Amino acid sequence: MRIVWILLLILCLIATLWLARDLVGYEPPIVEKYPPSPAVRVLLGRKLSSIAVEPEGVGKSGRMSLWLAGADKPLRWEGRSLLIERKSGVFGFAGLKETAAALELIPDEGFFSWQGGRYPGSLRILANGEETFDVVNELPLEPYVSRVVSSEMRSQWPLETLKAQAVAARSFALFHTQQRRNSPYDLLGNSRALSYRGADPARRAIQAVLETRGVVLQYHGRLLPAFFVSTCGGRTDRAALSFSVEDTPCFQGVACPHCRLSPHYEWNATFTPGELKEVLAAWNTGQEAVASLEVAARENERVITLAARFASGRRVELPAVDFRLAANRRAGKEVLRSLHFTLALGPEGLVVQGKGWGWHGSGLCQFGAKKMGDDLRTCKEILEFYFPGAELGRAYGAEM
Ligand SMILES: [Zn+2]
Repeated sequence: MRIVWILLLILCLIATLWLARDLVGYEPPIVEKYPPSPAVRVLLGRKLSSIAVEPEGVGKSGRMSLWLAGADKPLRWEGRSLLIERKSGVFGFAGLKETAAALELIPDEGFFSWQGGRYPGSLRILANGEETFDVVNELPLEPYVSRVVSSEMRSQWPLETLKAQAVAARSFALFHTQQRRNSPYDLLGNSRALSYRGADPARRAIQAVLETRGVVLQYHGRLLPAFFVSTCGGRTDRAALSFSVEDTPCFQGVACPHCRLSPHYEWNATFTPGELKEVLAAWNTGQEAVASLEVAARENERVITLAARFASGRRVELPAVDFRLAANRRAGKEVLRSLHFTLALGPEGLVVQGKGWGWHGSGLCQFGAKKMGDDLRTCKEILEFYFPGAELGRAYGAEM
């Protein structure tokens, strides 16, 4: 009888631990396994003079091969951080001095760490000047897309939304690998367009990538650089306003009723007369008081040109993009979060009321895509809404 009680007690303990595992959000470590995909080259650092790179091993210090440009066999490195420096046109590392113009580090176990981040793939170190070099991470596209999805969206968002983001990011990245074949890299690491940080992707981001593997957005069979923006604020912009792209129907912008619940849907910013004068300093050659500031040209919601009038009556037109840059630079933060705004200048200063958030306002609206996913719309429906006339195609990989 006693043994039965003990068994019951053990069973209860196991059940409690199992439940507690869910409560604390425990997830076993992720093993990433993707089908083969083309390589993408991401610029992680530019004009650096030294870096410390560490190969990652499982449960022990890692190892890596160091290939010097032109060498027929690699040098081997095992252990902790490897410090690489460049001085007077020479790379110095591991007690060696090398005049090669480039090195490639290939970790045995597929990962390296650098500046507190963990990255898959290899690292290319390319001389860029006598004292400096650029650092380019080369990795397959699918693990790259997982990391972009994971840093662009919350992993709890609907899976169809994450899948739409995966297809958009894959299309954007692949488009650039094709455009930049003759350049040393395809994409910027943590750019304003695509966020790629040295962090492991969330499980659901990986799932979204695997469920859409190789799928891209196309227009008449041609790959589209599918842009995305956090919150469009009610209407997405024509892409040609921010990018040099073909002005296709899928890039004309759409009315978006889906992002109203976004925390970035509405914003406002105020400038005292003194602050406004500082923002307009580049156009205000006589350092006069600002008499008026108005929108001179608009395309749908987006402000294209502003017109400022100064105390002497002099009138200057300025691109809204430049005004936004000047205002944000003066404030040291993004006070003007988009170009969808209205202005009111009074004796107290300038009040700007705006909508949406993003350095451009084109393509997939991420908060809108979240709402569409909540409303049980599919990845295909979300993408067709934001890119009208575009179709889903497969750039590589087997049929799903
Ligand atoms: Zn929107």
